[in-house]
Amino acid sequence: MRIDLHTHSNVSDGTDTPAELVAKASAALEVVALTDHDTFDGLAEAVAAGVQAGVEVLRGIEISAQHRGASVHLLGYGCLADAPGLAAELAHVREGRAQRVPAMLANLARYGMPVPVDVLARQVGDSPSVGRPHLADAMVELGYVADRREAFDNWLADDKPIFVHRYATELKTALRLIRQAGGVALVAHPWGRGSRAQLPPELLAELAASDLLDGVEVDHQDHDQATRADLRALAAELGLLATGSSDYHGAGKQEHDLGCNLTAPEVLTEIRRRVAERGGRL
Ligand code: AMP
Ligand code: FE
Ligand code: FE
Ligand code: ZN
Repeated sequence: MRIDLHTHSNVSDGTDTPAELVAKASAALEVVALTDHDTFDGLAEAVAAGVQAGVEVLRGIEISAQHRGASVHLLGYGCLADAPGLAAELAHVREGRAQRVPAMLANLARYGMPVPVDVLARQVGDSPSVGRPHLADAMVELGYVADRREAFDNWLADDKPIFVHRYATELKTALRLIRQAGGVALVAHPWGRGSRAQLPPELLAELAASDLLDGVEVDHQDHDQATRADLRALAAELGLLATGSSDYHGAGKQEHDLGCNLTAPEVLTEIRRRVAERGGRL
């Protein structure tokens, strides 16, 4: 059984509509979770498309959290979208996403790459969750860079000149909100892109012991083989679930094809059990 639990549609920073993503998933997978950044807005369309296409679509989200100023992405599965605490916090995060845009546009202008607001607005489309990938796509459209990767590597990454900080939920708060919404919480790509130092084994152990964290995403393109082996061993030692997923973004990310990493059926069974126990809806 092919199970991929981390994908993005154009409701956040992917490039496929939820229905297009699910149609593609039906050719490659038996189960797919849609995990857009900080919004549940794509789920209804995706679930309906899954019924049509004959692929099971699970309800997920990727939440922008932070720990001591460093970004930590959390995957939530089976959260009730209308749980008040979580819904209010996600609105706060999305507001923070929108609020940082003028400062990043000012930085782009300062570096000789003006991005008219209508160009950016077209890239954002109907997404309620604007992110740097939309700015990257506007930069591509205007001929400043060749692709998203170049935009991030030279300009938009956290240590590059265009970057502007944004609001993100404190890690333990976000974990509690996922739990209160009936969901299962995992850290996405915990040791990818230099973030290993921010999430040391002691912190993962503390979160596991506090019973707020269900697992970690082990098989991810941002983890090399040695990192996966270390993280898998740590997850086993701490009793954390270990998943594998693509982090598909459509045309927005190379080498993240649907199904490039997979989650074991028994892990999904345990996720289902916990969501049911907590009153969530997968
Ligand atoms: P933001 O949500 O505005 O903080 O932007 C973070 C998003 O940018 C992540 O969810 C990734 O999808 C994307 N991203 C980060 N680094 C890169 C990169 N090097 N190339 C392409 N996309 C990236
Ligand atoms: Fe993304
Ligand atoms: Fe992420
Ligand atoms: Zn993601």
